Amino acid sequence: MTNYLYQEQNWQSQLSDLITDPRELLEVLQLAPEQLLSGAILASKQFKLRVPRAFVGKMQTGNPLDPLLLQVLPHHLELEEHPGFVTDPLGEEQANQQPGVLHKYKSRFLLTLTGACAVHCRYCFRRHFPYQENLPKNEDWINIKQYLESQPDINEVILSGGDPLTLSNQKLKTWIERLESVPHLKFLRIHSRVPIVIPNRVDEELLSMLKNSRLRIILVVHSNHASELDDFTCTRLNQLVQHQITVLNQAVLLNGVNNSAQVLVDLSYRLFDAGVMPYYLHVLDKVKGAHHFDLASDHINEIYTEVLASLPGYLVPKLVREIAGEKNKTPLFGVSTFLS
Ligand code: SF4
Repeated sequence: MTNYLYQEQNWQSQLSDLITDPRELLEVLQLAPEQLLSGAILASKQFKLRVPRAFVGKMQTGNPLDPLLLQVLPHHLELEEHPGFVTDPLGEEQANQQPGVLHKYKSRFLLTLTGACAVHCRYCFRRHFPYQENLPKNEDWINIKQYLESQPDINEVILSGGDPLTLSNQKLKTWIERLESVPHLKFLRIHSRVPIVIPNRVDEELLSMLKNSRLRIILVVHSNHASELDDFTCTRLNQLVQHQITVLNQAVLLNGVNNSAQVLVDLSYRLFDAGVMPYYLHVLDKVKGAHHFDLASDHINEIYTEVLASLPGYLVPKLVREIAGEKNKTPLFGVSTFLS
């Protein structure tokens, strides 16, 4: 572990002081291999390195295979082309009705308020997404509201990534109040990795805003490994739970990071310690640049069978794949088409 005392720094300063240079990241972790560095520099030209020091603080120094490091360090394998690995694996550009809006699911509506993330996860299915052309401006709210009002089946809005918790509390408040003004909306889901990579993001103002919303708030965090969940992070996650916010976790099954039943079992128990329920375990979306994180179907089945046998049902995340154009995520285990 590095000695960085991230607990004492506010989240805004942490967000403006990310590590973006592969050389610095490797130096902080006391890693020297020249090959690692040259690959990282090349791959970061396509998708920049971004990682908070708080997250780096949870990595093991001197370990080039640290599961947290592998998720964020650009790698020369990202530059390889592989059939079936494409820039928009979920066909989101087609589902885009107007800036910042995705209506893929019947009752749920996705709103992308920012293209920024606190961390760049190398396997991210939106790593090529043209955010700049797709962010709603304040004046777009009128159209979004009209659209929501014309769709009485939508009862939930999902704020997705980029990462909505990189926005200031003030900006979030403005959007939450706008959404609260649509009478048939009941739920607001926020997808965010920030509470994991900068736990101080869970501050008093955010807690109070979420607790006092008319909408029922569901926060879906994204953690792939129990090492991401140190005591401080768990305490902050638990504060959300104490404020009547439902907190769920989604993970992505990643070669080299968490492709072991024991790692996934440890993750579920650690989440539960913090009051967070495991929700989804995603099979990797076939995004260009992430092929080296992919796993064979047989291996996935083997791992998941063992997870099922090792955990009580309430701690088993649903194994799913997202398929472009489908109205919901596709559950995988026991579905014969999965193996085709
Ligand atoms: S935080 Fe989420 S949206 Fe951002 S890069 Fe990671 S996986 Fe993608």
